[in-house]
Amino acid sequence: MTTWQTSEPFALAAGAERVTRLAENAFGASERPAVIGSAPGRVNLIGEHTDYNGGLALPIALPHRTFAHVRLRDDRTVRLTSAQADGVIEVSLDDVAPGADLGWSSYVVGVTWAAEQAGLLQRCPGFDIAVDSCVPFGAGLSSSAALECTVAVALATATGSTLALDDDEGRARWVEACVRAENEIAGAPTGGMDQAASLRAHEGHALALDCRTGEISHVPFDLEAVGATLLVVDTRAPHALVDGQYAARRADCERAAQLLDIPLLADITDLDSALAQLAERAPSADRDRLVARTRHVVTEIGRTRGFIELLQDGALTTPEGRHALGELMFASHASLRDDYEVTCPELDLVVDTAASAGAIGARMTGGGFGGSAIVLTTSERAADTAAAIRAAFAEGGFAEPHLYAAIAAAPGFAHDTIEP
Ligand code: ADP
Ligand code: MG
Repeated sequence: MTTWQTSEPFALAAGAERVTRLAENAFGASERPAVIGSAPGRVNLIGEHTDYNGGLALPIALPHRTFAHVRLRDDRTVRLTSAQADGVIEVSLDDVAPGADLGWSSYVVGVTWAAEQAGLLQRCPGFDIAVDSCVPFGAGLSSSAALECTVAVALATATGSTLALDDDEGRARWVEACVRAENEIAGAPTGGMDQAASLRAHEGHALALDCRTGEISHVPFDLEAVGATLLVVDTRAPHALVDGQYAARRADCERAAQLLDIPLLADITDLDSALAQLAERAPSADRDRLVARTRHVVTEIGRTRGFIELLQDGALTTPEGRHALGELMFASHASLRDDYEVTCPELDLVVDTAASAGAIGARMTGGGFGGSAIVLTTSERAADTAAAIRAAFAEGGFAEPHLYAAIAAAPGFAHDTIEP
């Protein structure tokens, strides 16, 4: 392990072993086969708060994954246990509906509910599921999508429909089911980027995602090959996406689009004239805020497009290219701080410290209000940069941050079917 990392992700075999043991302890032996699957958390390189505006995002799948051991049953009961939660929960699939109070099981049975609604599963049988994960919780790295997508790959396989790695069309349909699970059953109004990264990303590549059409392309992002390191810094600042802030940003964007008479802010082609129109049409109490929110969304989509083009042109291999990538990351952070107002002192401190330590680029990632930042640096400087961030947090009186190295890892898949 690189010494500066807080912990290493589970290897696939180790994760599979952990959920197998957990399932045995919680549910005992069975005559029926079991499926083990896993799916990753994600980190977004650039393109923040663009997904629900129909814009572009560029996530990678993390090496950190959530694992599940799933065994079908003959009834409609789901029994759940997780290494990250207490006890065993029991839910009937017939009781799953929007508004039901299901705790963390909503991320599991929400997927079966949405898959039934979409016709991906005909009347899903009940199942016993054991979960374990090394995706940090509530850190903006999408442990929620990792859990949903793990359920998707394991259940698709257990019920005989499978989800092959090259079946992008099938994967896209399950992404939609996972998004509905999160929005409608878990009640978190998040966009679709997280689940797309977890199910549709490719190893060694970032996922360029057009959030309006769901179209994707795979952009080379092999950091090891170019001697670069991506640090993920979980600030551990308290963050709650389900509280009002995220919804308030979405509402601002919807309001701005409505005032501009367009379906989505990604439809803006001329930013200056759109901002002028908005300033005219918005009530004075909302004017400055709606203008700033709109400016962030549109400029962020432009930065994301630029970042994708740079990567496609091999920017990671030249000093000028790296500089240009870094500029876009720093500009993204400044826009999220000043125009979108979703950063916090800890996130700003990571970015400022990384800049002083000579990083290529840095920015907050995920929804904001806490959570994580990313720092792109040369591999030689990674340890010193990590030390500088830790020291700055100690000096600022903040909780000790957790640091991880990210590479563009594999999407979710079912590893094995285990015969009893
Ligand atoms: P994140 O940024 O990590 O996605 P969320 O608040 O969206 O944060 O999701 C975290 C929630 O997802 C947890 O509070 C829990 O309800 C659920 N969850 C994620 N992973 C697990 C797991 N391994 N076991 C149980 N619940 C989980
Ligand atoms: Mg989440």
